[in-house]
Amino acid sequence: MKKSAELVLAVDLGGTKLRSAVVSKYGKIAAVSNLKTEAEKGPEYIIDRLVESLGTLIAENQFSNKDISGICIAVAGPVDVKRGIVTSSPHLPGWHNVPLKKIIAERTGIRTFVDNDVNAAAIGEYVFGAAKGVTDFVYIAVGTGLGGGIIINGQLYKGADGAAGEIGHTIIKENGPKCSCGNCGCLEALCAGTAIEREIRKKLKKISATEVARVYGKAANEITAKDVGKAANEGDLIACEVISNAAYYLGIGLANVINVFNPQMIVLGGGVIKIGDIYVSPAIEVARETAFELPASTVKIVRSKLGDDTGILGAAALIS
Ligand SMILES: [Zn+2]
Repeated sequence: MKKSAELVLAVDLGGTKLRSAVVSKYGKIAAVSNLKTEAEKGPEYIIDRLVESLGTLIAENQFSNKDISGICIAVAGPVDVKRGIVTSSPHLPGWHNVPLKKIIAERTGIRTFVDNDVNAAAIGEYVFGAAKGVTDFVYIAVGTGLGGGIIINGQLYKGADGAAGEIGHTIIKENGPKCSCGNCGCLEALCAGTAIEREIRKKLKKISATEVARVYGKAANEITAKDVGKAANEGDLIACEVISNAAYYLGIGLANVINVFNPQMIVLGGGVIKIGDIYVSPAIEVARETAFELPASTVKIVRSKLGDDTGILGAAALIS
């Protein structure tokens, strides 16, 4: 790839993975570094490793700092974007008001931006992905939790304090299961990864450990949402029931989004969406049946095209 200041360093700082990449302004990934976040080791350790990995990416690919026009870090958690501060994160223990933008800019000498990962992903879908050219859409990431990024008129809608888009914490079922935010019955607590894992464990209590091991090859407390998806896709009835219930609630959440925003498109991303049609198709059906007829009939509901690169491409899009 031709060296130019049109390259950016994009970072996806999640609770499990720390991915960094050199990306062109056209979304072409020139080099990638994949590390485990080791979130339990706290912000200082992670920042040291991040700076080190950025240095290695530049050096190993024979770039210099002059070739890089900026760094953008997409963080799993709430960010004060104007000041570049990670205010807190359920996925990154010990991160409280960390001035990440300032620290990284000082240590690398490169201008730096910090934003929330789901907002970055929404911009990534707009610039490089499934919603290219779509000016009004909502990006929904269903993973361990559920996050949303709202694009109105081609711009990310952040709200008065930058806190908009928390679709996962709209309350769907009064007195429903406890959510990571402290409330009960949030969409996230009914349809995302932790909900699927909680429900399968509840159901498997009635099943013998031998039978659980036969279906999953592991103990009930080790089963992930991905495992439940796989079992459902292979026809396991209990797994199918859990996925079907989660899909129903996702559908209700999508219907609410359709009624509030009347978007041209909803883009679904995140690990749990990879469970596939068995989860996504009934959710779309429920959404279309539940939302008002006109917006439900026009909205396109599609899956992300960027896959695991959504975070870094989103970060790159934010500064391109
Ligand atoms: Zn919640």
